[in-house]
Amino acid sequence: MNYIDSHAHIMSEEFQEDFDAVIQRIHDANITGIMIVTTKAEEALRAIEFAKSDPARYKVAYGIHPEDIRTVTEADIARMEEIVSMDEIAAVGEIGLDYHWEKEMKEEQKELFIRQIEIARKVNKPILVHSRDAIQDTYDIMKEHRVKGLMHCFPGSLEMGIEFTKLGYYIALGGAVTFKNSRHAKEVCAGIDVTKLLSETDCPYMAPVPMRGKRNEPSYIPYIVKVMAEVRGISEDEMAAIIAENYERFLEGR
Ligand SMILES: [Zn+2]
Repeated sequence: MNYIDSHAHIMSEEFQEDFDAVIQRIHDANITGIMIVTTKAEEALRAIEFAKSDPARYKVAYGIHPEDIRTVTEADIARMEEIVSMDEIAAVGEIGLDYHWEKEMKEEQKELFIRQIEIARKVNKPILVHSRDAIQDTYDIMKEHRVKGLMHCFPGSLEMGIEFTKLGYYIALGGAVTFKNSRHAKEVCAGIDVTKLLSETDCPYMAPVPMRGKRNEPSYIPYIVKVMAEVRGISEDEMAAIIAENYERFLEGR
């Protein structure tokens, strides 16, 4: 069985101290596809260098996170466009809207989101979308500015999840699906088109049960896929195989 982590911040400082051990556990757990998500130019370039060690396993994404809306400059956006144009970048993200951390500046966030979607269209790469307390605005923008991509750590209802898949977007689920009180995530997992489902850790955040509260890492993906399989009523083998196929299609921009 092989596993996919479609959203991992393994270049972040939380992993600097024991990076080699984290990578070893990725091998031991047979996580064969990892999207390294970066949110700073410098971090993206480090990820590109690292991914060269095992390009089949590691893909790199870069985008300007909505939490950085107060500090982002025109020069940052120009640099972002330059970096995501590189062949070594597989996806644009994470980008999106966050009305939880940043209740003001909604218009500025929308504008930055749309600009980055249009950059993704130009470089012909899928987007990884972060949406928090902003699902309707996220949907409206992704409907109007339609590209390929995925909803990371999908926060919405099943009904909303179905609407996103109708537009062609994938839905990635993470640790939340393993939480006892995660009705939404389980309903989404059970109810959406299985060919649109992906697994992710969002590490170092959102560790799944039984690791909840600890630093998350890619080798915890099996805990998530196990619950996804239970919710779907299929074997873990089947679930892992479906996710791996979906991820291939996602990377091909289909
Ligand atoms: Zn993330």
